[in-house]
Amino acid sequence: MRFALSEAERQGFGAVRAIVGARVGAAGLHQGAPLAKEELQALFLALAPLGYLGSTLARADGGHALSPLAFGALVEALAPEYTLLGNHSVQRYLAAFGSDAQKRAYLPSLLDGSGIGAIAITERDAGSDLAALATTATPKGNVYVIDGEKTWVTHGLVASLFVVLVRSPAGLTRFLIGADTPGLSLSAMHPIGLCHLSFARLRFEHCEVPASARLGGDGEGAAGAKSAFPLARVLAGLQALRLAESAIENAMAYARERKILGAALDRREIVQDGLARLLTEHAALRLLAYRSLCALEADGALGTAAGLKAAAADLALKACRFCAELQGSDALDTHARIHALERDARMMAVVDGTSVLNRLVLGRRPSLFRSTD
Ligand SMILES: Cc1cc2nc3c(=O)[nH]c(=O)nc-3n(C[C@H](O)[C@H](O)[C@H](O)COP(=O)(O)OP(=O)(O)OC[C@H]3O[C@@H](n4cnc5c(N)ncnc54)[C@H](O)[C@@H]3O)c2cc1C
Repeated sequence: MRFALSEAERQGFGAVRAIVGARVGAAGLHQGAPLAKEELQALFLALAPLGYLGSTLARADGGHALSPLAFGALVEALAPEYTLLGNHSVQRYLAAFGSDAQKRAYLPSLLDGSGIGAIAITERDAGSDLAALATTATPKGNVYVIDGEKTWVTHGLVASLFVVLVRSPAGLTRFLIGADTPGLSLSAMHPIGLCHLSFARLRFEHCEVPASARLGGDGEGAAGAKSAFPLARVLAGLQALRLAESAIENAMAYARERKILGAALDRREIVQDGLARLLTEHAALRLLAYRSLCALEADGALGTAAGLKAAAADLALKACRFCAELQGSDALDTHARIHALERDARMMAVVDGTSVLNRLVLGRRPSLFRSTD
């Protein structure tokens, strides 16, 4: 059982922090327009040598064959400034389900950072509930005609390639669709947080794609999507924990400086009690996240990852609220850092399944690690 990062994993974490620090500096969280495509490409280019884009992919596919824990350390280190930076899932979908021709066509640019990939699954009336997906792929000769709309696609405005999950007569099916395909139009969404990212709505109107654009088998898209859940949820959980950590640090710094009735706030037992609860929960969940990354194939990994992600997002929101209350009127400024953290935490409580949904996933198949594991 692993309880900490190895020296190499710690170095990976530190190297990512150095890259983030050089870009963000003292400015803190990104609050302006989403990063432009060139800025993102430069960031991915800097992260690529560490294995961020090659992630857990086999070396035969051009990947870095990192262990999930080593990869998790890189992803964790991107938050809170570049939470949910992504651009590694499409690579894993391609490696797992792509034909040799598809891998040759798309993997090199995605792995060197010049290509940006995005996943388009969610629809206005189908997020948690994949069975409700209504975008269709109708076979016509040797093409499929795609019709429908996808929402909340991360990197949607800057991606060159989308993995799109739609409904064909055989069932849920994935396609690889280029951003410049006729019949596909993009529009910007306006999120409350994670302002460094662009989110797009994708509209498919009689969009014809060749049968060779199918990624994996006809009707086999749901299994593919679900197999990606455990890793995605633990990574989201780890990043939510970084938001929580940042809120806790913010609270501790304030409590050290602010004097009430002649003593610093951090001398008050009620403040110490609140901080102690947050710190303990944070440390415990971080260990659970690392443990989960070491056991992604274990029975019950899906439930554990779902429960962890929900608890991490809850903690991030709780830590932000504690910090904001501690700061009194100082937190009422719209530019206070704690609000930016809280808006990001609200986004993290929805991505990769809402907290309610994730708790339901664990509750239906109670399966956390036991003391004998
Ligand atoms: C930051 C961010 C990035 C995202 N990136 C992407 C992306 O790149 N690609 C993509 O396709 N999507 C993306 N999404 C969308 C995301 O996957 C969905 O928002 C998420 O799955 C939840 O779906 P929903 O918003 O439709 O909510 P719904 O699933 O419709 O939930 C609505 C409400 O119903 C509740 N609910 C759901 N199921 C149950 C149940 N069984 N019982 C009781 N209550 C239930 C929920 O808790 C919630 O309160 C992103 C979202 C965010 C916030």
